[in-house]
Amino acid sequence: MMKKNFSLLPFLFAFMLAFSITVFAGDSEEGFKPNPNATEADFDEWIYQGLKIDPPYDKATPVPKEFINSVGTMAAVSGTINKSTTVYYGPSSTYVSRETLAQGKAVSVIEKEGSYYLIEYSVAGGNVRGYVLTTSVDGNFSSVPVANNNINQFGLNISGSTATIYGGPSTSSYVSIGSVSKREIITVLKNDGSSWYHVEYWTSNGNKRGYIQTSNVSVPWLIYKYNKPITTGTRTNDYGSHSGIDIGVSSGTTVYAITSGTAKFRTAYKEVTLSDGTKKRYAVSYGNFVELTFGSNKAIYAHLSSFMSGYTAPNYPNTVPPSGADSSTRYLEHGSISVNQGTYLGGTGNSGYSTGPHLHFEIREGSTVVDPFKYVLFAKMPW
Ligand SMILES: [Zn+2]
Repeated sequence: MMKKNFSLLPFLFAFMLAFSITVFAGDSEEGFKPNPNATEADFDEWIYQGLKIDPPYDKATPVPKEFINSVGTMAAVSGTINKSTTVYYGPSSTYVSRETLAQGKAVSVIEKEGSYYLIEYSVAGGNVRGYVLTTSVDGNFSSVPVANNNINQFGLNISGSTATIYGGPSTSSYVSIGSVSKREIITVLKNDGSSWYHVEYWTSNGNKRGYIQTSNVSVPWLIYKYNKPITTGTRTNDYGSHSGIDIGVSSGTTVYAITSGTAKFRTAYKEVTLSDGTKKRYAVSYGNFVELTFGSNKAIYAHLSSFMSGYTAPNYPNTVPPSGADSSTRYLEHGSISVNQGTYLGGTGNSGYSTGPHLHFEIREGSTVVDPFKYVLFAKMPW
């Protein structure tokens, strides 16, 4: 063991050095190179050795440059609002509306997206940017570029504090329009200046677009390695308040293997013997669940309603078992199979101790429950 640990040290050091260079490369155009040295086997071995590999694995990294459109010169063509019109926080009326601009209001038109212009105008306290229908602005906008946003990239404020969203790329000349919380997922549309991202984020009233300082946005390194367990839903309960993350979704929503490994299909239940001698089973705890083992780690997908083809999830009632039932939980073992990353594992549900359809997703390193956000990102997850 000792020998092995020592042999790992130079490797670990080299990796940390490479990581530091990556992080501090700043505006280098070399692009992001996640994990230039380590392999799946290295990672598993480090975990197995019990090494606390906080740098770099627990650290978030800046959003990779290759996923964000390069800085472009935006137009600032003067125009005039030609009729009372609503400003939205995005290029459609499905976004949160900001206010109504009166006829005659002077604006700058920055770019065109669909049937909307991104405009900038003055408000109390500074300037703000928003979207109005192209038909509501008078001016000569032939030179205004069409938006070229990359809306595929997640960003994640993982710094542990609230970050302010501004109405434009400056803290001094634009007003604040909202905020995002720790680990809230936002979409980075564009790098709109050396230290600003143009982003879209969720609010309870709809989506908004605004600007955030790049230092507030980062992604966990490990998302390059592991996929999302689910592609939709809203986070309803977070790690820290319990052993995993709950994602509210309708029953039957597909869940996927976050990485290759061995999927084991199980049901937690308690049994009671009725007065006529027959036995009745009640789903308890995780109900129907999948344990995906990868290396010495395990991902748990709980409260499922169905399993992948070949494995049948029972439909036991999930009410509290009556008195006389087993005092400890039993497990029905349905079998296991090797799966690849992205393999369909089953459908979400409400089995076991669950008060509504949701996915409980949990990660264990050995026997230690850890924050799943260390490994994966979820679908759009407010708060
Ligand atoms: Zn849960």
